[in-house]
Amino acid sequence: MSLLVVGSIAFDSVRTPFGEVEEVLGGSATYFSTASSYFTEVSVVAVVGTDFPEKYLKFLKSKGIDIEGIERREGKTFRWKGEYGYDLNEAHTIDTQLNVFQSFKPRIPERYKDKKVVFLANIDPDLQREVLQQVKDPALVACDTMNYWIEGKRESLLETLKFVDILIINDSEARELSREPNLVRAAKRIFSYGPNTIVVKRGEYGALMFKDDRIFSAPAYPLDSVFDPTGAGDCFAGGFMGYLANTMNFEESNIRKAIIFGSVMASYNVEAFSLDRIKSLDYSEIEARYREFKRLTHFEDLT
Ligand code: AMP
Repeated sequence: MSLLVVGSIAFDSVRTPFGEVEEVLGGSATYFSTASSYFTEVSVVAVVGTDFPEKYLKFLKSKGIDIEGIERREGKTFRWKGEYGYDLNEAHTIDTQLNVFQSFKPRIPERYKDKKVVFLANIDPDLQREVLQQVKDPALVACDTMNYWIEGKRESLLETLKFVDILIINDSEARELSREPNLVRAAKRIFSYGPNTIVVKRGEYGALMFKDDRIFSAPAYPLDSVFDPTGAGDCFAGGFMGYLANTMNFEESNIRKAIIFGSVMASYNVEAFSLDRIKSLDYSEIEARYREFKRLTHFEDLT
C-alpha cells in the first residue's frame, strides 16, 4: 500500500545521562520511514544539503524506502541539538538550524500524487500544507508537530490541522497547542481545530487515543535500558501509520492495534542512539513484542 511522509532529515547531536553523540543521522522523516518500512512501502519528501553523505541515502534505499522525493540542495543539511536529563520524557532543544529547509519548496514526484495515506511529520507547517496540496485524494492524513512550530508558527499550524484526520502529538505539546493543562479537555479543544482522532504520546507512560467521546490507553513497554529517546515519537508514528497503510482499515479497533505497533517501534528505538536499534529489526521481533504488550495489559473481567 502507499504511504507518503514529509518531514526532516537531520544531523542530530544528542546528550543523555548515558552518553553523547555528534551529528548522527536523525530527523523526523528518517525515523518515521525506517520504522514504517517494516510494514509497508513508504515514499519520502524531504531535503538534504550537499554535506549529506550518499551512504545514508543508500541505507534508506536498502530498507525499501522510496527516496525519489528527497531533494539535494546547495547548502547545509538541517541540524538539531538536544539534551535529556534523567527525565528522558522531555527533550531540551539547545539549537535548531533549519539550513536547506529555510528556502525549501517541496515539489512531489508525479507518482506520489496518488498516495492514499499521508503523514505530515514534524516540520514547518507551511511545508506540510504544500505537500498535502499536491496529493490528489488521500484517504487518511495524519500529522505531528512540536513546540518549535506551536510557538513559532501557530496560525500556519492551525491552518494545516484543518486538513488532518489524526493528530499524533506529545502530552506537553497537546497542552501547549490547546492552551489547556488537562489532557481530556485539551483533546476536546483540538477536535475543534480539525482532527477527529488525537493520539497523545506520553513517553514512558504510554499513549492515549481520543476519538469522539472514547479513550483508549496503551502503556509503554517497560524497558530496563532506555538509552536515547530521540526519534521515539517518529518511530511510534512510523509503526502506527505503517500498519494502517498496510491494512487500509481505519476503524477504531484497527487504530488500537496500530497504536500497539507504534509503541513496539518506539520501544525498540529508545534502546540505542540514532537508528542503531531499529535499522536492523526482524519482523518476528516486532510481533513478539506486540504479543508481550497484549500480556502486559491483560486482566480478567469482573464476574
Ligand atoms: P522525536 O520523535 O520527537 O524525538 O523527534 C526527534 C527528531 O526530530 C530529531 O531527529 C530531530 O532531528 C527532529 N527535529 C527536532 N526539531 C525539529 C524541528 N523544529 N523541525 C523538524 N524536525 C525536528
